[in-house]
Amino acid sequence: MVTIFDIKRFAVHDGPGIRTTVFLKGCPLRCWWCHNPESQAREPVTIDIERKVNGRSVAGKKTYGEQMETGAIIETLLRDRHFYEESGGGVTFSGGEPLMQSSELVELLEASKLNGLHTAVDTSGFAKREQFERILGTTDLFLYDLKHMDPELHKKYTGVDNGLIHANADYLIENGASLIFRIPVIPEVNTSREEVARMIAFLKERKESITEVHLLPYHRIAENKYFRLRMKQQMHEAKEPDQTFLELLKKEFEKSGLEVVIGG
Ligand code: SF4
Repeated sequence: MVTIFDIKRFAVHDGPGIRTTVFLKGCPLRCWWCHNPESQAREPVTIDIERKVNGRSVAGKKTYGEQMETGAIIETLLRDRHFYEESGGGVTFSGGEPLMQSSELVELLEASKLNGLHTAVDTSGFAKREQFERILGTTDLFLYDLKHMDPELHKKYTGVDNGLIHANADYLIENGASLIFRIPVIPEVNTSREEVARMIAFLKERKESITEVHLLPYHRIAENKYFRLRMKQQMHEAKEPDQTFLELLKKEFEKSGLEVVIGG
């Protein structure tokens, strides 16, 4: 059984073409800016909510997460096979960190490939090497996060060191994997001149193996979720980056010959 918290059909930002994205529950990181805090716990979470019914508040419950058989997930994915074929799309396994359910992810990827689907894995990179080894042959594309280059600040903002993440990226590159690096753009967290220069240097060194770089602007959309989940919100003062800043940042990355997309 796989614990998921969402399946999004007709996704257009999680890899090429039209895709279905399966969000697996559980993540070893605790990023301050996480848009999906409901994804972090490995098990389903139930919270108390209030619903408006005929103008009156009614107490209720909402559960984030459910268990599904691999076969049922594949069946759902295959419903849109026609759209994948027409658009050059496929399926993306995201999270949370999908490698938290490593054996289940292996099964899902193998079944997807047996059905001829293009596969992508959206990962924080924070997983054991052998877990990446097991999915290398069945993953057509990795969407790989790059959050902060400074190990101490990476640990402060995500809860984990970035050494393993960089080492796994190099392992994937050395073994011929296709990678899109995804950078969350968060003013006052990872947009200083020095930090941007360090990210560019990291990517430039690996340029030949990188398909694209996606700059993902921070949004404050998740604030209400933190409140409802009774989780600590650490990004009170954070600003969203404006379009002018994003365009300038894009140009800065492009100077190194990288293919850059805002959003992605
Ligand atoms: S890696 Fe992604 S899912 Fe995990 S805490 Fe960070 S932003 Fe959230």
